[in-house]
Amino acid sequence: MKSVTVIGASLAGLYAARALRAQGYDGHLTIVGAEQHLPYDRPPLSKGFLTAPDTAPDTGTPSAETASAEAQLALTDAEEIAGLDAAWLLGTRATGLDPHRRAIRLDTGRTLTTDGVVLATGAAPRRLPGPAPAGSHTLRTLDDARALRADLTGGGPARVVVIGGGFIGAEVAASCAALGHQVTVVEAAPLPLVPQLGYTMAELCARLHGDHGVALLTGTGVRGLRSAGGDDRVTAVELADGRLLPADVVVTGIGVRPATGWLEGSGLPLGDGVRCDAGCVTPIPAVVAAGDVAQVAGARAEHWTNATEQAATAVHNLLAGHTARTHHALPYFWSDQYGVRIQFAGRYRPGDVPRIVEGSPDDRSFLARYERDGRTTAVLALNRPRPFMRLRRELARAVQPAATA
Ligand code: FAD
Ligand code: NAP
Repeated sequence: MKSVTVIGASLAGLYAARALRAQGYDGHLTIVGAEQHLPYDRPPLSKGFLTAPDTAPDTGTPSAETASAEAQLALTDAEEIAGLDAAWLLGTRATGLDPHRRAIRLDTGRTLTTDGVVLATGAAPRRLPGPAPAGSHTLRTLDDARALRADLTGGGPARVVVIGGGFIGAEVAASCAALGHQVTVVEAAPLPLVPQLGYTMAELCARLHGDHGVALLTGTGVRGLRSAGGDDRVTAVELADGRLLPADVVVTGIGVRPATGWLEGSGLPLGDGVRCDAGCVTPIPAVVAAGDVAQVAGARAEHWTNATEQAATAVHNLLAGHTARTHHALPYFWSDQYGVRIQFAGRYRPGDVPRIVEGSPDDRSFLARYERDGRTTAVLALNRPRPFMRLRRELARAVQPAATA
């Protein structure tokens, strides 16, 4: 293999580039990224980055804290960039792929031909139907976060409505509450995070909103956004049941779709993401996928650790020319909400029974094991990082990666 092209210059793309060089690949490496930015970290965008002041109050110019909040997002540095020895095509979108010829069309009009392809295009936010007036936001990119932070820190206390009570919704609500805004979260399901945590534990996590004065309205969808004024600014959220929630700022976090639109017509199997085998390999061995865009052995994950781990497996198999290694890592995610770190490892299935083994929900600090037939299937912690890591390691030993060739 003399040339490899990575499509997507973010977390999975960077980890794939690192893995290529670490695994001894010394050929041409090209990294194509639709955003103008070098790889940066998304988790802070809904957390500390939003609460960093936007402008210095006296001068109106970006404050030192803002500059440092942005600098802290960087996933790489000049020394590593030099070491990776890659051609970075940033601000460039891949628009099509012929996987047999390994030809990648770019929106610049250029076509790249390459020996190996790593698909790492992630996911993009689902949007509500209808126009998006000023003051309404989704949150996926640094540019989204800059725009949202400007709306949240530009004036006094605002009425913020967050649509969707999943990860984005809960974390943004917590950040807005910390900024002193009046926050309402609207969630279509009877309770957020039930598919991930099960009812009992999801209910304990949902209590965090009330603890911090944030209203959680569940079991109702949204009909649309109302707007007014010369700048067509959002004024209210209209719920499916007809209620109107006045709003100065609206954040929609109703899930994502894998970024596979550009692969339509490529012949690659697309379902909920790019369909791959358990080694992140598509039916064409020279094309592999990793991260939020990859549906690996039927499952797609949307979390940070998964993107980094899959990148190493995908690259190993790309260089091997076949599925030499499979991805068996224990799923893991964390979320920071209202000063509480929530950590979860394993896979929850309906019927698994959570048992609190340390701490107390009343203190918003506990460790719980999920059990099925006497076996631990998953572990959840609120503000118990050390014992959580111990149990996570224990569980992970049960799913060690297996080499198949
Ligand atoms: P992405 O990070 O989405 O990167 C894909 C890149 O590909 C993007 O830069 C995109 O512009 C580019 N791209 C897309 N299409 C094309 C194309 N056609 N051509 C070229 N480039 C293209 N996970 C956790 O575990 N814990 C957290 O606390 C957490 N917090 C989060 C907070 C926020 C606000 C967000 C948005 C996500 C958070 N996540 C968290 C999820 C985590 O960040 C993602 O799982 C991770 O970013 C996935 O990495 P990825 O490289 O697969 O995709
Ligand atoms: P999400 O976690 O899938 O949550 C979306 C929530 O919105 C779900 O509870 C969903 O309910 C609800 N919903 C859907 N349509 C709705 C509607 N019309 N009105 C009201 N509620 C609606 O997605 P997300 O919060 O948007 O996050 C986006 C991505 O970022 C995900 O990939 C997520 O994993 C990632 N992320 C991760 C973290 C973390 O790991 N800590 C933090 C931030 C973001 P139903 O389930 O009933 O559809």
